[in-house]
Amino acid sequence: MGLRLLLHPKWSSTATASSKSATLSKYLAETIKATGPISLAAFMRQCLTNPEAGYYINKDPFGKEGDFITSPEISQMFGELIGVWFLTQLMLNQSVKKIRLVELGPGRGTLMDDMLRTSMTFADFHKNISEVIMVEASPTLRNVQSQLLCGSECKQGPDGRWTASSSKYDVLFTWVDSPKDINDDSTVSTFVVVHEFFDALPIHQLEKTEKGWRELLVDFSADKPNTPLSLPNQTVINASPDTPKFHLTLSPSATPASEIISQTHERYDKLNVGSRVEICPEAWEVSSQIGRLVSSASGSALIIDYGAADTIPINTLRGVKNHKIVSPFEEPGTADLSADVDFQAIGIASKTHYNVEVHGPVEQGDWLHAMGIGARASMLANNQTTEEGKKRIAMQYKRLVDKGIGGMGKLYKVMAITASGCAKPAGFGGEL
Ligand code: SAH
Repeated sequence: MGLRLLLHPKWSSTATASSKSATLSKYLAETIKATGPISLAAFMRQCLTNPEAGYYINKDPFGKEGDFITSPEISQMFGELIGVWFLTQLMLNQSVKKIRLVELGPGRGTLMDDMLRTSMTFADFHKNISEVIMVEASPTLRNVQSQLLCGSECKQGPDGRWTASSSKYDVLFTWVDSPKDINDDSTVSTFVVVHEFFDALPIHQLEKTEKGWRELLVDFSADKPNTPLSLPNQTVINASPDTPKFHLTLSPSATPASEIISQTHERYDKLNVGSRVEICPEAWEVSSQIGRLVSSASGSALIIDYGAADTIPINTLRGVKNHKIVSPFEEPGTADLSADVDFQAIGIASKTHYNVEVHGPVEQGDWLHAMGIGARASMLANNQTTEEGKKRIAMQYKRLVDKGIGGMGKLYKVMAITASGCAKPAGFGGEL
């Protein structure tokens, strides 16, 4: 449903984040009143990327001051080792040509900065990089990225392309909205890096009933309380009483998403009546695009995100605000919404139309160790002149590789997708 076409809220140019959220809430409630309940994906899309009030559109959400912190922001080692992984892809596969480096959802641009700085220490790698393409929906973050990597704003030229005039790494940077905007080019090898992007793509929730799959839709009522989705450790926000109350309701009839699920992967057929699952058609589309981009000229992709290696996600949607878990339904547009990534679905979708091979997923802690994080951390720690500096490196290392309960080394998984016929990649049984 083209939600945007239905109602056009008035956005004041001086609106604050909370007044924008109130306008978005009203807009979503009015839409539901007019058309009936909407899919969770439509709700999530508005919350995250509504051009006026979307979470990612207006702000830089990262770091201690922001809502959450990601691995590249924790330590430079993360991006450096990803840079080394792509270097090994170049060395292991003789048929790699000039390299087109693509990042989906680059945040502040820190990961790309660390990768490119690493590439500079391997002249043969750096001289092969002909272009960097950043896939980013947020104008605010596009500018944060271009300031970091290019020292200037990115601007749209007469040809419609968003580029920066120069870059500190001496490569051309282009910004696009979607991987679909990247053309096929068999004269270059495409290397794609995707960190914490899939988890931000909108999901549908479905339940298997006696009548087949039925979708859980977002409804609105004046009197029902918000459905908390049984989130562990959730912080309850005391929203004002006149704020619209959103909750989930089971659609009595089939919807486009419930029709798709029965036609897609057979693994859904095996589930029992009463099972609830999350599906992400947008992730399937992005995965297929990754398959397209890497399938020629020995291309490869590295995908890092959180989610189970081989099970279907169930009830994992969550909101995060100020480093705390909150209900996805309160104060839309002010919290990051994300769901566990379905790695099996990414692998299946990337291979459906293109000739690629899928490696992993493996746990982040194991992958980083295979890539030599221990040695890199020791080197960085030895270069520190203070005890405090040495401790900081040790903490960063531990945070990235920790495999205890809730540790990033276990929760996060790493998956590679390579053109068929490429050598087994490093960290997935291949040589470093
Ligand atoms: N990779 C970064 C940022 C992760 S947050 C890091 O690890 O620090 C998710 C990123 O994806 C942000 O840059 C956000 O603006 C972008 N994003 C979210 N949804 C998007 C979409 N539908 N299309 C393009 N970019 C999107």
